[in-house]
Amino acid sequence: MPVSMAMGQNASKFDEAGEKRHRARMTENAPTLRAKNTIAYLVVAAGRGSRAGEGLPKQYRSLGNRAVLSHTLSALHASAPEAVIQVVIHPDDQSLYDDCLVNLEPLAHTRLQPSVFGGATRQESVKLGLEALAKLTTPEIVLIHDAARPFVDRDIVERAVKAAQKYGAAAPGVALTDTVKQVDDQLMVVATPERQFLRAVQTPQAFQFLVILEAHRKAADSHREYTDDAMIAEFAGHGVHLFLGDTKNFKLTTPEDFDRAMEIINRQTYADLPDIRTGQGYDVHAFEPGDRVWLGGVEIPHSFKLAGHSDADVLLHAITDAILGAIAEGDIGAHFPPSDPRWKGAESKIFLEHACQRVRERGGIIAHLDATIICEAPKIGPHRDRIRQTLAALMALEVDRVAIKATTTEGLGFTGRKEGIAALAIATIRLPPK
Ligand code: MG
Repeated sequence: MPVSMAMGQNASKFDEAGEKRHRARMTENAPTLRAKNTIAYLVVAAGRGSRAGEGLPKQYRSLGNRAVLSHTLSALHASAPEAVIQVVIHPDDQSLYDDCLVNLEPLAHTRLQPSVFGGATRQESVKLGLEALAKLTTPEIVLIHDAARPFVDRDIVERAVKAAQKYGAAAPGVALTDTVKQVDDQLMVVATPERQFLRAVQTPQAFQFLVILEAHRKAADSHREYTDDAMIAEFAGHGVHLFLGDTKNFKLTTPEDFDRAMEIINRQTYADLPDIRTGQGYDVHAFEPGDRVWLGGVEIPHSFKLAGHSDADVLLHAITDAILGAIAEGDIGAHFPPSDPRWKGAESKIFLEHACQRVRERGGIIAHLDATIICEAPKIGPHRDRIRQTLAALMALEVDRVAIKATTTEGLGFTGRKEGIAALAIATIRLPPK
């Protein structure tokens, strides 16, 4: 990436006190951005578009095991890890946004600025995002990107940065494959523009920061609406260069777009995470007087409860051990010692979430979970679907990748004598190559 490293390289020339003063000055002027961070992403995620279904704004719809916006932020971060990321969200979406950050890589988190709320139009939202960045410091280049384009990649980002450095304002364009007709209000063709001079425009649109900030301020004063940021630069008198976009960098709008995106993500997931591992877990808890048991994060009325230091969710314990087994990182007791008073009465989903986090930190995913609950009672069948859904949500996994089975032991052994419940689990995970 054409990123200036000048400040960092010169730092060795300072004496210690000088360097301290220099650092203090940099911190004072730019609380988060440092001098070498000359690229900023501005991600516009304030739209309400829900044409794609699920009733959610499309940037928060799930695509595999995470939200569209989370994919987009990951892809941007991977394309320019030094760039800071400013996201503009709708005021109603704070909790959706917080949820979508859960699956984001820890390093990407360190580049995220606090989100800002958008305005009534996309144009207003972009301006609010630019003003937020301007308060931090002045990046050299800003790349303004749609939240619903998760397939942006390093090649496009590099072309965007180079074009912005050279031309001041630039946008990715792709050639049209269909002939375009201009029609009148009766749908009669009035013109057939020459296709060679037409481009469909995508994002990230890239600008020298001050160019687009000034243009947006001018556009706001003009009280006119503009289709995209390139048009705002044009309005302010800047030539806009179109660099090569990519048809892969499509915007998710319709249900068909989501199907296409899912296929791509599945392919990428399998290609990028070839190291397949399995782990097993087994746990037993005894009954004691009580009126409910916890199984898989679901409360089930029963004539006993399970005895244990935590909430004694025997199924979650077996699953947690299976996941820790798959990454060969000890067992639940090593991570959460029963001797530690912090875990007394704890909800066992904390243990599972910790194991899932360990997998994420290794760059992996949980691909499948299969578990068996062994007891004479309570009956599991009526609760099976709720347990599957609860586990799928806890592990950020599709429900069809979570299997819950139940069996008795025909009256034999401790489970047959109704002294307690046993659970077995097998987790399959995928990790990146070493
Ligand atoms: Mg246990």
